Amino acid sequence: MEKEKRCIAMVPSPGLSHLIPLVEFAKQLVSQHPNFHIHFLIPTLGPPTPSTKAVLNTLPPTIHATVLPEVNFQDLPHNTEPATKMKLIVQHSIPFLHQALQSLSSNSHLVALVFSIFSTDAHDVAKQFNLLSYVFYASGAVPLSFNLSLPKLDEGVSTELWLDSIPIVHVPGCSKPFHVRDLPTPLLGKRSSETYKLYIDVCQKFSLVDGLIVNTFNELEPNVIRALQEREFQSGPCVYPIGPIIQTKSSSEANGSICMAWLENQSPNCVLYVSFGSGGTLSHEQVTELAFGLELSGHKFLWVVRAPSNYGASAYFSGQNEDPLEYLPNGFLERTKDQGLVVPSWAPQVEVLGHGSVGGFLSHCGWSSTLESVVNGVPMIAWPLFAEQRMNAITLTDELKVAVRPVVDESGLITRDEIAKVVKRVMEEDEGLELRKRMKEFSCRAAAALSEHGSSRKALSSLANDIEKHFSGM
Ligand code: UDP
Repeated sequence: MEKEKRCIAMVPSPGLSHLIPLVEFAKQLVSQHPNFHIHFLIPTLGPPTPSTKAVLNTLPPTIHATVLPEVNFQDLPHNTEPATKMKLIVQHSIPFLHQALQSLSSNSHLVALVFSIFSTDAHDVAKQFNLLSYVFYASGAVPLSFNLSLPKLDEGVSTELWLDSIPIVHVPGCSKPFHVRDLPTPLLGKRSSETYKLYIDVCQKFSLVDGLIVNTFNELEPNVIRALQEREFQSGPCVYPIGPIIQTKSSSEANGSICMAWLENQSPNCVLYVSFGSGGTLSHEQVTELAFGLELSGHKFLWVVRAPSNYGASAYFSGQNEDPLEYLPNGFLERTKDQGLVVPSWAPQVEVLGHGSVGGFLSHCGWSSTLESVVNGVPMIAWPLFAEQRMNAITLTDELKVAVRPVVDESGLITRDEIAKVVKRVMEEDEGLELRKRMKEFSCRAAAALSEHGSSRKALSSLANDIEKHFSGM
């Protein structure tokens, strides 16, 4: 391995949606700052999936990857919160990480460790090796700003549930407070739960690292980024808004040709794309309402369907073996064969959103999906399910005004009539045109941020310079 180049080790949280943005970030870093090379150290619960292998196969020669030995724990309930599961996988992988860093530091000039949010246990290891430590925050500035405030806020809560102490929370940089029910999922349960404690532990680490690399851009979230930078002046970690970092090509070719061929035959801006991320699921009743709602709207749709589950993140780690099409209402596929295309489990999302016939995106508001929509100028229907997605949905509807949000009824369901109504609002009404116009503006600003003198390029250069400066004096 090359001695003269600086080596940065990167530790993604388990799961494709953490690996992908970190890989894309690494590619940008080495292409713009060739004095670095990067080595991925990947914690995992099982052998790498074909999708993980496909992502790793896209790495250029200056980026290497080692999948750490699999960790093993059988006793987790199947509906354990994804964040908790990820944090535990990383925790169990720390001895392997230690060994891998030992070997890397003897072969290269190792300078820094960059890790995703649920890999913050890597921070202590970084310090043992005298490395700079950075969180790569794959979501936006709003949940980051909240997470940084969380340990202090938690000290002010005296009851088991937040709701019994404080119904609303002010997030630095946001114009309106958030209701407690819209906070990240781990905070909705009991404060004595393992999930809650692990989440607080993650957030406490955020203040200890040397820097926070955030997948957003100044022109998208200026006020919150300013608030984060004010914190930096009060000796908080440096903040580097380097986004939007999105995939340039979908990680899997599943259903690729069928989706793209179908889109080719549609008119511009006329298709609603419907997808709930890499693992989001709906209840059976909700799948039925969504099917009827799409049909009722009369609009063209491309729907990525998953088998139903009462737990919103159930396909996140494991994928699904059932045929999701079997759960659709009787006759639905036949009745809508000229109106929509339904594909099981996966579509090449970045290619789909980049196609001119897609005019709207009904999304669970995962941050990568959100940024992919922003980059392609596609207005959204915000249908959050879990994690920090409710905060993202509020940012999209209330702050950025690029999305509408369907109303959930008293039984927790979004009815077919409500779905048809929001689809029409986005796809045919003046309101939809306005949302699209605003989204296109953000799309232009995103391109500008990433261009040669753009804000995100500058932030990436500051990060590279800060690492260089730190080590040049040693
Ligand atoms: N994705 C995809 N096809 C699908 C579903 C998801 O390519 O059918 C990709 C999507 O483009 C995005 C990622 O998977 O890059 C999902 O990340 P996001 O943060 O939106 O949601 P999460 O999977 O973390 O819930």
